[in-house]
Formats: sequence, C-alpha cells, structure tokens
Amino acid sequence: MRSAPSVHAAALAAALVATGCATHPTTDPHEALGATASDGAVDESDATSSADEPTPDAAEPTEAGATTAADADAGLALFDDFESAAVGGPPNPALWTVESPDCSGTGTLAIDDSEAHSGHHSVRVDGGGGYCDHVFFSNASAITGLGQDGGQVYARFFVRLGAALGQGHVTFLAMQDDNDGDDDVRMGGQDAILMYNRESDDATLPTLSPTGVGDSVVIPAATWTCIEFHVDQSAGTIDTWVNGAEVPGLVENGTAVADISTQWLSKTWRPSLATFQLGWESYAGETMTLWFDDVALAAFRVGCGPSTAAALPLAGQLDGG
Ligand code: CA
Repeated sequence: MRSAPSVHAAALAAALVATGCATHPTTDPHEALGATASDGAVDESDATSSADEPTPDAAEPTEAGATTAADADAGLALFDDFESAAVGGPPNPALWTVESPDCSGTGTLAIDDSEAHSGHHSVRVDGGGGYCDHVFFSNASAITGLGQDGGQVYARFFVRLGAALGQGHVTFLAMQDDNDGDDDVRMGGQDAILMYNRESDDATLPTLSPTGVGDSVVIPAATWTCIEFHVDQSAGTIDTWVNGAEVPGLVENGTAVADISTQWLSKTWRPSLATFQLGWESYAGETMTLWFDDVALAAFRVGCGPSTAAALPLAGQLDGG
C-alpha cells in the first residue's frame, strides 16, 4: 500500500476524470487549471520549491488516459473537483461532512455551478458574521492518514472570495490539532491579509505588526486564487505559497523571525492535525460568500497546475500598504 490509505473510490474516480479533462482541448483556462491535480505538480514544484522540499516522485506526469494504477501512484490522499456532486446538495458525503461545530446559525454551503475553477462545480459557502454562523465541510481521514505516514501534510486548494478580506479576524480553513487540546490551527484573514491563527493561544503568523502584515498578501476578490501549504508536523514548521509563490510572512521554519514568527514560536508547536475543514468562521461580524474548488491533500507538494496566475505582490508593496 502506498502512502494514501484514505484514498476513496470516489476521490480516485474524481482524479481520473480530472486527469482525463486535462488532456482535452479547452478554451476555458479555468478548466485547464483545475483539471491537473497531479499532472501539474511536478513542473510547478520543480519551478518553485526550495532544495529541501521533497521531490514529488510519486507525482510523475501521467499520460493521457492514465490508468487507475497511475492515479494511485500520484498518491493524493484526498482530491475533489466537486464535479460529481449535484448542484444544490452537499459535497460528496463519502469524502466530506458538513459541520457547524459547537453551535449553528445562518452559515450554509452547497455545490454550486455559478462559479468553478475546474469544470462546472465548486462549493459555495455563505458564511455569516457571528461565530455560530460558521459552516465547514470537513474531511478527517486524509490528513490523519498523512500524519501517520510521517507527518508531512501538503494541501492545495483554490478559493474565490466574494469580497476582499476585511480588518476583522476570519477563518476559512480550520484543522483540529490533537496535540494542542483539540484546538484548531486556522488559516484566514485579519488586517485584510492572509494569515494563520492558533486557537489555543491566539498566536498569529505573521505577527500582525505593520512589517508582518506587509510580508503577507492580500487575496483579490472575485478571483480564483491557488493556496498551498506544507506543515511538517514532526518539525513544527509551516510553508505557504499563493499562486505558486512562497509568501515570506507565512513561513515558520522553527527559527523565530522578528515581526513574522516570534509569536507563533512562543510555545513549542508540534501539531497532530486531525481534520481538514474548509468554510467560513467570523469573529468580528464579517460575512462572506466564497467558493472552493480542486482541493487536494498529499504527502508531497501538489502545485497549482499549469497556472498562469501571477504571484501576488506582498501587502507591504501595495499602495498605502
Ligand atoms: Ca470543479
């Protein structure tokens, strides 16, 4: 058995469909972009990874009409392009559970065909402004399996925000950390930039100083944006890429960097990630409609596919930033 104990038949089928789509002529760059969870991985990784990133041997490009075995070799622990799920319904229940932890309110999510990064479907989330108005779609088996496989968690997903992130703190990705009192490691926004937050002690990455904020990026509204991260659970480190480019404010390599990772490293952090949850949770009243597509988890960097999206400027390089 390869490193993907949690590959479901549905995920494999989705990956197969996606791989096939990648070989079809298309005039829709979105379709081409999202259809290559594994195919685009090698080029993207080789182009941008630093030397200490593992070489994704398992993600060698597959030929047109790749076999099931070839997709298994791709080793994705989780992949969903949401094409097989019905519009208006939940994402594939074999992969995802729709959750509003602790309490529920106005937050809703469903498969949508008004926006898509690949094909025609994505997951639309309508998140409310109160904490209990949160909603997530969650997979536990894939990230737990990666943890058992050496602790290397790589994620890649595309997100489209209906509006720019505001000043308040929000979360669109939460991962339960079994080594931190089951509290979440969160990715989302504060001070209008992309950031991480640790629920247990409210530490942020970057530190939200002007310099720290300036070393992250502003996710543009109404634009499909590729977000990737790597958490080395054994080392307790984080690396993050947006549209294929590493974001310096979202890197924590174990050595405290002023204005970036000093707060995160104020305690020993060796996560054991047990859930992967995409959705919306808001702590200061900010509502959002957002979409997710082409979600992948693996033990190696997946990449964004043959994306032509330009790297985003750091927030500190923006006018008035
Ligand atoms: Ca899709």
